[in-house]
Amino acid sequence: MRIILLGAPGAGKGTVAKMLTELDGSVQISTGDILRGAVKNGTELGKKADSFMKAGDLVPDDLIMGIMEERLQEDDCKAGFLLDGFPRTIPQAEALKQLLSRIGTDIQAAINIDVPRDVILDRLTTRRTCSNSECQEIYNVKTKPTKKEGICDKCGSPVIQRDDETTEAISKRLDTYNEKTAPLAGFYEKEGLLFTVDATSSDAVVSGIKGRVGL
Ligand code: ADP
Ligand code: ZN
Repeated sequence: MRIILLGAPGAGKGTVAKMLTELDGSVQISTGDILRGAVKNGTELGKKADSFMKAGDLVPDDLIMGIMEERLQEDDCKAGFLLDGFPRTIPQAEALKQLLSRIGTDIQAAINIDVPRDVILDRLTTRRTCSNSECQEIYNVKTKPTKKEGICDKCGSPVIQRDDETTEAISKRLDTYNEKTAPLAGFYEKEGLLFTVDATSSDAVVSGIKGRVGL
């Protein structure tokens, strides 16, 4: 499948994407994961992105489009892709449309995962992420704890709270989302691609998406 996952931070895009990749071999492309990897490895991209990310601000569109232009042309994308955390602004959505047509592909749907704000706030403050950049498994202290406290079940690395998951950075990220990213629903509605799933359970979201893309 070739889809975009829209939804506020904490809406469950990453979890849903991981479940969907197992269905048909599509790759999950998370700009957040790519950026965190770049910061950790101290690359040029990472140095440019770091301060924006720590503050809960968006990284400039031109940096993001540079990443995506390369990433979408890698071989694994031929099996399909799930865009998680991209596009995040109307200019990114417009640039993506141009880019896809230039490289001879398109998207089937933009899935808007709609979750109430109080659920989101609770999820984000209780979220923990595996610190191993190759793994990045997501846990939740309430709903999906690690078997051994603070240690990833999958790879044994320490499980941490992300820098941008402090209460302050979270509320900034939600404001940024409402201002810059929420308007994308209208953009994709006009394109005839919007599919809204009203669900707080990842399983329900996944079955809604399966129906929409015909899997
Ligand atoms: P979230 O859990 O907020 O959805 P992500 O992992 O998608 O977080 O992104 C973390 C941070 O990386 C964002 O707060 C932002 O600074 C940056 N980022 C990720 N994707 C984009 C994008 N498409 N455009 C601009 N900035 C981005
Ligand atoms: Zn791990």
